[in-house]
Amino acid sequence: MSMPNVTLVVPCYNEEEILPHTINVLHDLVLELIREKRISEKSRILFVDDGSRDATWSFIYKASLQTEHIRGLKLARNAGHQSALLAGLFAAKTASDCVISLDADLQDDIRVIRLFIEKFKEGYEIVYGVRRKRDSDTFFKRATAQGFYKLMEKLGVPLIYNHADYRLMGKRALDALERFDEVNLFLRGIVPLIGFRSTSVYYDRQERLAGDTKYPLKKMLAFAFNGITSFSVTPIRFVMLTGCAFFLTSLIFLCYFLTLKFMGETEIGWTSLITSIWLIGGLQLMAIGLIGEYIGKVYQESKRRPKYIVDMDLFNMAKPNRRTSEHEELVNTMDRATKTN
Ligand code: UDP
Ligand code: MG
Repeated sequence: MSMPNVTLVVPCYNEEEILPHTINVLHDLVLELIREKRISEKSRILFVDDGSRDATWSFIYKASLQTEHIRGLKLARNAGHQSALLAGLFAAKTASDCVISLDADLQDDIRVIRLFIEKFKEGYEIVYGVRRKRDSDTFFKRATAQGFYKLMEKLGVPLIYNHADYRLMGKRALDALERFDEVNLFLRGIVPLIGFRSTSVYYDRQERLAGDTKYPLKKMLAFAFNGITSFSVTPIRFVMLTGCAFFLTSLIFLCYFLTLKFMGETEIGWTSLITSIWLIGGLQLMAIGLIGEYIGKVYQESKRRPKYIVDMDLFNMAKPNRRTSEHEELVNTMDRATKTN
């Protein structure tokens, strides 16, 4: 495959500050790659609007009218980064030989895209973009992220160290990905489970050019927790082991207190009693809560709710139809609304 049909998939959530820049840069890159005959001239960029409340969709929509290389997919509401990305990957799947996912803020060096494509031509079906160092992150983000990777490794979750969601996936890999039906999606953990020939390319991550991170601490913790509980039962095992340890300890104490009693020293400490009640009570609550987490997961998975709902798909649409002209009006009203705000 000398000139693969490549689609760049870019999830966007309230990215109006940076999107015009991103659109230009990526469009130029695609044109350049086409000129160099590295990718097919049908290659496109698919921007997924993850239910933004600003002018994000309006930018995407207008760009899609100006050039055939830019397409948009609008989700009906905010589904979260992972689901938005997935929506883009699956929308792009049939019409592309391979798909590259990247963030709208272009923190990930886009020069790596060339390497991605070279590796794909060499026969790799999954190519991971791995950050060499994390200079551009705050100390806090770096420490928490690295702690997270270490923890995941300890828990036996197959993660690629320092790889986020910057990666290339071939069509077969995407087909395989589609067979993972879980609602709690942690792509970073799932992709390595797919297998196929894969490799990594290395790059330095830059700072966000404009706008703020869409991953505040709360979302980050939720993301990490989801990653752990979706992939590992080690926490449950850990609680069980702790429970066993406490049980054994209490047996030893029981023997001790009984010996004391038979030797005539009957004043058994109130302190030790009350402490152990609290300790064991706390432990039980913790265990129940944790088990509840997993039951909650089972509950969510058993519902098989759709992970995202597509409002408008400009990628797989042959020609603008009546629905688009109605949509154009909607975009214009949205524009007016954001301007008056
Ligand atoms: N994003 C999204 N939906 C969300 C949150 C984020 O589509 O609910 C997108 C966001 O627009 C960006 C990417 O996910 O393209 C990564 O987010 P961000 O750059 O804020 O994360 P960070 O780089 O700070 O981890
Ligand atoms: Mg970012």
